[in-house]
Amino acid sequence: MSDASCIFCRIGKGEIPSMKVFEDDATLAFLDINPLAEGHLLIIPKVHRERLEEMSPDEVAAVTRHLPRLGRAVMAATGAQAYNVLQNNGAAAQQSVGHVHFHIIPRREGDSLGYRWPAGSYPAGRGEELRKAVIAALGA
Ligand code: 5GP
Ligand code: ZN
Repeated sequence: MSDASCIFCRIGKGEIPSMKVFEDDATLAFLDINPLAEGHLLIIPKVHRERLEEMSPDEVAAVTRHLPRLGRAVMAATGAQAYNVLQNNGAAAQQSVGHVHFHIIPRREGDSLGYRWPAGSYPAGRGEELRKAVIAALGA
């Protein structure tokens, strides 16, 4: 259920201090130690799961049910008008800590944060191929 070598498990158990803002049996929310913006939060399950797809629906629900309230609280506390929820899975997706976590990143008009979003389009037929492949994988 927990991994002694995992920093977020240790934070979840209170063995390593964190700037905690919310806790219940299944979830801990705390300030990111290296924030992208003031108020940047991390929300973690207390159970050790490396990636989102390893979690059961109930485990995901127990954590994500708190996101709306935490989002409102971060905006109220910081005066930010907006926020991103970000959740990285795997090194290629910039996951650096191998314990599932959701970021809430406060955003303001004109802040210097951003990300590349080089939107593309599908060549004829490719979208349909992918749609069928995903549906087949869902049934597997
Ligand atoms: P990732 O890139 O894995 O999605 O994000 C990991 C996040 O965890 C980073 O934003 C990093 O600043 C944060 N982080 C890493 N170690 C600690 C820590 O010991 N305490 C806290 N509060 N945040 C951490
Ligand atoms: Zn862990």
